Amino acid sequence: MKSSALVIGAGYGGLLTANRLAARGHRVTLVNERAEFVDRIRLHEYVAGTRDHATRPLATMLHHAVRFVQGRATRIHPGRTPAATLSDGSTHAADHLVLAVGSGAGLGPAGLDGATALRRQLHALPAGARVLINGAGLTGIETATEIATAHPALRVLLHDPAGPLPTSSLRNRDWLRQRLPRLGVDLTDQQAEADLTIDCTGFRVPALAAESGLPVDAHGRVLLDDTLAVRGHDNLWGVGDAAVMASRPLRMACAVAEPMGGHVADGIGRYAAGQPVRPFNFGFGLQCVSLGRDDAMIVFVHRDDRPTTARLTGRAGAWFKELVSTAAVVFPARFAQGYVWLGAPKRRPGRPAAIGAPA
Ligand SMILES: Cc1cc2nc3c(=O)[nH]c(=O)nc-3n(C[C@H](O)[C@H](O)[C@H](O)COP(=O)(O)OP(=O)(O)OC[C@H]3O[C@@H](n4cnc5c(N)ncnc54)[C@H](O)[C@@H]3O)c2cc1C
Repeated sequence: MKSSALVIGAGYGGLLTANRLAARGHRVTLVNERAEFVDRIRLHEYVAGTRDHATRPLATMLHHAVRFVQGRATRIHPGRTPAATLSDGSTHAADHLVLAVGSGAGLGPAGLDGATALRRQLHALPAGARVLINGAGLTGIETATEIATAHPALRVLLHDPAGPLPTSSLRNRDWLRQRLPRLGVDLTDQQAEADLTIDCTGFRVPALAAESGLPVDAHGRVLLDDTLAVRGHDNLWGVGDAAVMASRPLRMACAVAEPMGGHVADGIGRYAAGQPVRPFNFGFGLQCVSLGRDDAMIVFVHRDDRPTTARLTGRAGAWFKELVSTAAVVFPARFAQGYVWLGAPKRRPGRPAAIGAPA
């Protein structure tokens, strides 16, 4: 039995869900605000000018059977046939609805609009100007090092009272404390005057789920049960940054969004076939942070994201990180059908997806 699905949001998670479902013969409608895919994990490069663009046409990334609708969902309607209303007043319904609206809203390098504004402001700064990045998590470190290495005439400050990468091991944090100044980034635990201030203190989730009356956590992420269905709804699903498992909150990452998308597509398939939907089984493997174009810190982690002592740095780390970032786009666009992750159930070998083939 095949069913129909309405996927809202064409980021890493939504794209993988839509392409995987379509490749398996389900009817898929994908709604996204833009006709382009935003490669969010490259936005710090786009801001710094080490990359000229961070988008690519969605048309080149979609399975030929996916019906694409450009529009912004303003309301989700749960029910036997869940539906979404778009800002143009149209309503779209399907057997299953997947919420995958991400977290690129707001200022800073987290989304394309914020990144485009920052890029313009950064390039207008005179030599010697001070750039302050607030928040020394993964995104703050990547943004600070990208700017510092691409614009050595600027003074780059990275501000966080908790120091760099508070969730990592003391060893990794000490390494970063020594490495960042060598790359032109001065760490500070004090707010400072600056010519340009960049907010990297966390991603903002759109209010769509909350405004639609769905259960959400304190960050507005829709709350999921262990199968990744929205709590209390067996035909509404959540994928990526805009959703969170109530029993096991995972960090916002495309490394999480894509496995979630794969699992939700499998879940919809099992539901349509009358089989029980499995709990989401997922393990982390890596935590990657780029440090400009020629350096990086790749930390091998336990399944629960705790760092091991294994680490790859320097040019080898930068090369590896580049490979991972490229795979993050290639997998959902070209290999959605056969995509597997750490913890994924073993699958029978199947035909590769004909993603991108003409209709
Ligand atoms: C600079 C930077 C570097 C990063 N580096 C890494 C990294 O190295 N590794 C890693 O794992 N993660 C990284 N991340 C995090 C990663 O980008 C996010 O976790 C990931 O984008 C989440 O994917 P998603 O599919 O949930 O949503 P998104 O990629 O945010 O996509 C959501 C899509 O939904 C659309 N949308 C939103 N609201 C609506 C609506 N109402 N109607 C229709 N469409 C809508 C958006 O326009 C967007 O296309 C980085 C993020 C940034 C900003």
